[in-house]
Amino acid sequence: MECRLFPAYLGRMNVEAATRSVGEALLRQMARQRGALLPRALALGAAAPEVKTALLRYVDLLPSLHTGREKVGHLQALLAGKAPPLEALLRLGAYAPPLAGAAIQLGVRLVARQFVAGPGPGAIPRILRANARRGWETTFDLLGEAVLGQAEADAFLERNLAALAALRSVKGEGEARFPRGNLSLKISALAPGLNPAAPEAALAALKPPLHRLLRAARDAGVLVHFDMEAYALRPLTLALFASVLDEAEFAQGPALGIALQAYLRETEGDLRALIAHARARRRVVAVRLVKGAYWDYEVLAARQRSWPVPVWETKAETDLAFEALSRLLLEHTEFITPAFASHNVRSVAHAIAQAEALGLPREAYEFQALYGMAGDLKAALVAEGHRVREYAPLGAWLPGMAYLVRRLLENSSNEGFLHARAAGTPSALLLQTPHVPEPPPPPTPRAFRNAANTDFTQPEAAAPLRAALSTLQASPPQHWPLRIGGLSVETGEWHASHNPAQPAQLLGHWAVATEAEVEAAIATARAAQPAWEATPVTERAAVLDRLATLLEAHRPHLTALEILEAGKPWPEADADVSEAVDFCRYYAAEMRRLAPGRTTQPTPGESNQSGYFARGVGVVIAPWNFPLAILCGMAVAALVGGNAVILKPAEQSSLLGAALFALLEEAGLPPGVGALLMGEGERIGPALVSHPGVDFIAFTGSRAVGTAIYEQAARTREGQRGLKKVVCEMGGKNALILDTTADLDEAIPAALHSAFAYAGQKCSALSRLIVLEGIYDTFLPRFLEAAAALPVGDPRLPETLVGPVIDADAQARIARTIREGAREATLAWQGYTPEGGFYIAPTLFTEVPPHSALAREEIFGPVLCILRAASLDDAFALANDTPYALTGGVFSRTPQTLERARRELRVGNLYLNRGITGALVERHPFGGFGMSGTGPKAGGRGYVEAFLHERLITENEVRRGFAPER
Ligand code: NAD
Repeated sequence: MECRLFPAYLGRMNVEAATRSVGEALLRQMARQRGALLPRALALGAAAPEVKTALLRYVDLLPSLHTGREKVGHLQALLAGKAPPLEALLRLGAYAPPLAGAAIQLGVRLVARQFVAGPGPGAIPRILRANARRGWETTFDLLGEAVLGQAEADAFLERNLAALAALRSVKGEGEARFPRGNLSLKISALAPGLNPAAPEAALAALKPPLHRLLRAARDAGVLVHFDMEAYALRPLTLALFASVLDEAEFAQGPALGIALQAYLRETEGDLRALIAHARARRRVVAVRLVKGAYWDYEVLAARQRSWPVPVWETKAETDLAFEALSRLLLEHTEFITPAFASHNVRSVAHAIAQAEALGLPREAYEFQALYGMAGDLKAALVAEGHRVREYAPLGAWLPGMAYLVRRLLENSSNEGFLHARAAGTPSALLLQTPHVPEPPPPPTPRAFRNAANTDFTQPEAAAPLRAALSTLQASPPQHWPLRIGGLSVETGEWHASHNPAQPAQLLGHWAVATEAEVEAAIATARAAQPAWEATPVTERAAVLDRLATLLEAHRPHLTALEILEAGKPWPEADADVSEAVDFCRYYAAEMRRLAPGRTTQPTPGESNQSGYFARGVGVVIAPWNFPLAILCGMAVAALVGGNAVILKPAEQSSLLGAALFALLEEAGLPPGVGALLMGEGERIGPALVSHPGVDFIAFTGSRAVGTAIYEQAARTREGQRGLKKVVCEMGGKNALILDTTADLDEAIPAALHSAFAYAGQKCSALSRLIVLEGIYDTFLPRFLEAAAALPVGDPRLPETLVGPVIDADAQARIARTIREGAREATLAWQGYTPEGGFYIAPTLFTEVPPHSALAREEIFGPVLCILRAASLDDAFALANDTPYALTGGVFSRTPQTLERARRELRVGNLYLNRGITGALVERHPFGGFGMSGTGPKAGGRGYVEAFLHERLITENEVRRGFAPER
């Protein structure tokens, strides 16, 4: 085709100048297009940020509102007083809710229609015809992301197969290198509960549905295009695409394509690898280059996890990357057919200029734009003889909302090209080379930052743990003696430690302490404590900092040991190491903050100075479920204050306790200041707790043991120096409420994770899910479907979420609770029980009587009670009806419900619209009250002080009527 935009000399012009002239021509052409209407949603960009947020929240909420009254009421709640143009509608709502409700629904539906091409595959022929009239091709996308259960995944696959059947009719009509039929696919919707941190299992789950789809696509002559979603799915998407290219069955088709996001720093490497792969397979693949639609999410997600931000942080850098990647694509059209998917005229013009400079024919590449957007650009490109394809999403009202909110955000962004153009920015500015602004000065480093967990979705980050697991299992089991006064102590009695997932696997032996070692450890600690207290705080804090560094350095080994000894899934074991690191760094910083004390001079002539003493010698008694973090946290908080401590790990996780203690000594803790006593709680616990030489006890564990310790410690004995301080953290019976506006797409996975991750063996775990009557019937089938997809199995496998319970006793106790529970409640579902280890199938009870043992006692296993509440009052009353007060949560999109939860839910840690486990040091100081514990909160201000005595020194500075001036 003759090139109208570019005279022949253009190929020789420099690309920058050509980009501008192509851009000018495009902009002129766009101005001539009829119907160049900009999306209505642009008006949203002009709104105040809080109005924009409120409106987007409302759009997200609308599908779950049913009556006119609800629709008006929620609009009122979110927007009252914020958006004057809507006041009339709100007033109408007061008189005629059904009318106003219908008007609102219609309004949002109209906006949705602007971005969603049709309700399903049935709309395909109509859209194809309409687009063909305009001269552009189409790729279809069946909306739906992150399916919760197998039925949802199956339905997604069926919709795609129906789309392929509809596309069959367009087979072979006038294509260049690829068929005209083109289907875009989000792989995350092909299998439920897809976990990108477990690539082998995820690929195995994805391949059967994908193969069906690819066969159908090959028969229909349709190109299948893999969309690129959030960063966590990137390695999996690339790996799946690469594996399909390698499969003999699909060597001759279907045609394949994949989207790459210019905003990711790693995309250039990915593209080069893809080009090499296509070349090796002598196969042409389509690549859609996009800027990337999840920028805000990626930045937020990375910052929240202390991970490197994977995206370019300014828009100009992304625009520049888009141009560089465009060039790379166009240089390899032998194996790649590029599609440039941007609404930014500068980016489009640059691709054209670049293609012309390389002397490429028009058929070698195409442009893509979203349905409902950039109509004038599409028309201008077609008018100039370019190939254009529209990305047309198809979907029903509800699943379309995530897509719709993304489009509204994009259209209302004040940074983007659309906004700049709508605001009348002159073309020279619109077309100029993207300018990267000076980076802002780095923020002043904070005293404390959370350690980053390992990002197992990135294969290279997972490699050290895989290696450590192999090494550890290949090494002969070690013997771990007690440590007293810097010396190893054996008692002649050894306890064998085994893997709960495979009880025949011996992991090591630890020496069993007796009362004699209790005496020795306390005497040694008493002798060593004064010198330690006299050591400057900076030196004591430095021991904690060094321990943090050592823990980080040994992270893969410690994580592997925790997977084997405590049966923890990968991410949870890794997070336990992070938490131990955090406790060290945070308490070190806290002690440095506290050390100078506080001086005040309320009136001339008097000075008051507060400061701290160590309490003396303490005993730290820890549970097995956070075997490093809790033992480490309690111990180092006491140590940094100048106390000596005896560490008593739980029997089930004593090898980890020994590993931690070895690192504590390596970090420089002087001999005697810490002692390691492994042993049975019932046997040495009472001797430790009641010993007159012990000044304080830090305990975390069960209510039965905790309350017994509290009582024993209260009794004073001969030779005791004072009343014993007890910091006692115990269990919970934690509730999560779902109200009728809860977003089930988020609430269901969050509830399942809170209840079943690590087989429910967390004090914070969800054990009572309280669901409002109004959504119960919608909720339950989806929840059961999603529960069926829970990965139960050996924690050595990265996909496992529900592993074994800790030992045979726990297994027998929980099994009995389930048997007895089935007599008073309905056993609604039980999952799979793997062979071999101490497994308990994840179990759901419904119709649980509120006063039954099931509903009131901590089970500490993978058992969840679902309670139905008739009203919010009922739900709050049920949630509070327990002597425990540890964690709790609410999922709701109604501000008033959340407000009420803040006021009324009696728990130490309340979580709104998220899961109820996973507290982070400093960000979420953790601990409860009632029968859940004494406080203070671990990982928060006040914790280190619990192991100190505060004293105040008051000095009269007046001498003969004269006071020094300050
Ligand atoms: P547990 O009470 O059985 O054991 C905890 C520790 O106490 C172990 O080291 C054990 O050896 C020791 N012990 C046992 N009997 C003793 C006695 N008579 N005297 C002194 N020490 C004794 O608890 P567990 O099974 O290891 O842990 C699970 C419990 O811990 C759950 O109830 C859970 O909710 C609770 N927990 C609470 C928190 C929290 O922060 N609130 C955190 C983790 C676990």
